Amino acid sequence: MTSRLHRVLAIPLLVASVLAVAVAGCSTNPATGKRQISFVSTSQEAAMGRESDPAVIAEYGLYGDSTVQRYADSVGQRVASVSHLPTLGWHFRVLDSPVVNAFAIPGGYIYITRGILAYLNSEAQLAGVLGHECGHVTARHSAQQITRSQIAGVGLLASAVFVGALRPYTGLAQQGLGLLFLKYSRDNETQADELGTGYATKADYDPRVIPETYSMLKRVGERSGAQLPGFLSTHPDPGDREIRTSQLAQAAVAGGRRDLQIEAARYRRHIEGLVYGDDPRAGYFVANRFYHPDLGFEMIFPDGWKTLNQPSSVVASNQSLGALMELTLQFSKDSTATPDQFVRSLLDEKKIQDASGRSESFRDFPAWMGQVLASGDGGRKTLIAGFVRIRPGQFVQMLGQSRSAGDAASEQILASIRSLAMLRDPERRNVTADRLHVVVTDREGTFTDLVSRMGPQALSLEETAILNNMRATATIPAGTPIKIVQKGRHP
Ligand SMILES: [Zn+2]
Repeated sequence: MTSRLHRVLAIPLLVASVLAVAVAGCSTNPATGKRQISFVSTSQEAAMGRESDPAVIAEYGLYGDSTVQRYADSVGQRVASVSHLPTLGWHFRVLDSPVVNAFAIPGGYIYITRGILAYLNSEAQLAGVLGHECGHVTARHSAQQITRSQIAGVGLLASAVFVGALRPYTGLAQQGLGLLFLKYSRDNETQADELGTGYATKADYDPRVIPETYSMLKRVGERSGAQLPGFLSTHPDPGDREIRTSQLAQAAVAGGRRDLQIEAARYRRHIEGLVYGDDPRAGYFVANRFYHPDLGFEMIFPDGWKTLNQPSSVVASNQSLGALMELTLQFSKDSTATPDQFVRSLLDEKKIQDASGRSESFRDFPAWMGQVLASGDGGRKTLIAGFVRIRPGQFVQMLGQSRSAGDAASEQILASIRSLAMLRDPERRNVTADRLHVVVTDREGTFTDLVSRMGPQALSLEETAILNNMRATATIPAGTPIKIVQKGRHP
């Protein structure tokens, strides 16, 4: 089962403990050989990675296909083994996110999204992306970022225990993690490109496919007009990086190496069936009704409120009423815990300071309804709270806030919480995601003609052209594999 609603409680503490161990020191940069001042030692970097990894996974979720996970890790390990830190203990993970991105955290933890995997066309291209991220780690760019933000006196430790509760659109968790994912400088990116191209080539991958990644990213960026965090930070321009990596690749193969691999067919085999875009199994809205097929529940958010389904929470707000609510999934250590016992465990663990309420039986699930006192960065707050046990050990936690107790908004929040029920409607329950599918052309033709013949699809011709790093007007020979996105069953 994949679920994109994960617990977020632990994250601010993790970030705090990561920084608490940071002390100033001077160390040698493994990739450059230069001495540099860093507040974080190599062993501390490894500890930061180890401690932050579960938080990243909780926030974004791992992609559920273990074959894809093993494949990305094997390519990553091959590249990392020829890097400046071959024995670091590297980890490569595919995140269950449709966003086109890849990033690294200190200590050798590299993350790549299923979103970017869909847009790559060969194992050598994947090796280039992973090599680039390895370069950020070996050149200790992340550690330098931490050092810099500490110097800038970012008030990290201010944030207290309770959740991203009631901070719609920017969970506290994301804010904390954001510090590890600060944009790199232009010089850092250039250096990571150099190191990544070198590592990929040393691992016997043909670096001449690496520039395609930047032409693809440029087109994805232009199409969406959106921010592509991390990998495609706004600087340097991906067009410049395409040219620069072309030069690097030419230099890398100038010695006349003939044994370099691209492995496009093997790559295609591994991404056949990859989930594309938002996965409705992980929750979706139809108007103000929220459905979560994997967790088997549905609920109705208040009429006219703005809602947002994020990887680790669902938030809803009504600006004019000054009201908010947030839904997250929580786990109890004791799988037999009742909602009442679960609330008591939150008190015992000091995640909440006070609770008043009572057990209730919803139509399908046992619940606890009441108020909790919780610490947030605005001090202590009394929140409307509902904890609904949807499975042994799993609770849907709903927190709400309105201007004053008993007002219209608080009535709406309570009614919304009580609407949570088992998802029975087969049409809503049996949804499936859009998926990538490779089709081999059986004749010569223009890309547009050939793709139009491949049956109903989820993407426009232009998007499918970007997916394949081809032009819609290009003539394609017979026998060319083309990636298309087949539409799943969902609204
Ligand atoms: Zn980078």
